[in-house]
Amino acid sequence: MSIIIQRFEKIKENISKSKRNTKPNIIAVSKTFDFDYIKPLILHGHNHFGENKVQEAEKKWSDVRVKNHNLKLHMVGRLQSNKAKKAVEVFDYIHSLDNEKLAKVISSHEKKINKKLKYFIQVNIGDESQKSGVAVKDLNNFYMLCVKELELNIIGLMIIPPNDNNTEKYFEKINKLNTSLNLKELSMGMSQDYHLALKHNATFIRIGSAIFGERS
Ligand SMILES: *Cc1c(COP(=O)(O)O)cnc(C)c1O
Repeated sequence: MSIIIQRFEKIKENISKSKRNTKPNIIAVSKTFDFDYIKPLILHGHNHFGENKVQEAEKKWSDVRVKNHNLKLHMVGRLQSNKAKKAVEVFDYIHSLDNEKLAKVISSHEKKINKKLKYFIQVNIGDESQKSGVAVKDLNNFYMLCVKELELNIIGLMIIPPNDNNTEKYFEKINKLNTSLNLKELSMGMSQDYHLALKHNATFIRIGSAIFGERS
């Protein structure tokens, strides 16, 4: 069994040990890794993969997807409006919806090509100036705009918590916000902190290096 499959199975084992009713989905974040790394996981039956650049994803995945209809591709990185149309064509899920301009471009392109994606609204939970995401105080309005006016299928919130020692506090807070909006899915938890995200109802965890190894 390849090392990638071993690491992947180890994560599934850790999830099984956590006391949860429903098992979260693992998104294998394959950014920077070429298809040789990804193939064993697909053969192993895994379907959810994440990328953070539109062009890289298109290049890496378009041929593979023609032959594998079960694959689901997740955009987890920052998305610029000028790449948004292409993103709608390439991905099934976008985790980084975080501003009005982007949401409008996406909405009109969805309608134009008659495709519906699933979206997470990224929240800037720690109010960090360098990070993307909607401010907590603007979340309700932005959510309403996306759902009512733009008719986007918002399935949950997403965070990348600040790099301090309060990770769990942020997970707790976003879980509450998610519930207050009646959202069913919650995207949080990466290689270093997914064990904490599991405790606070994450339904999609995004794991890169703990599966594929360190990125160069
Ligand atoms: C790269 C990335 C991940 C995966 O990170 P690891 O620490 O390698 O697990 C998850 N989410 C986002 C938004 C990323 O950019």
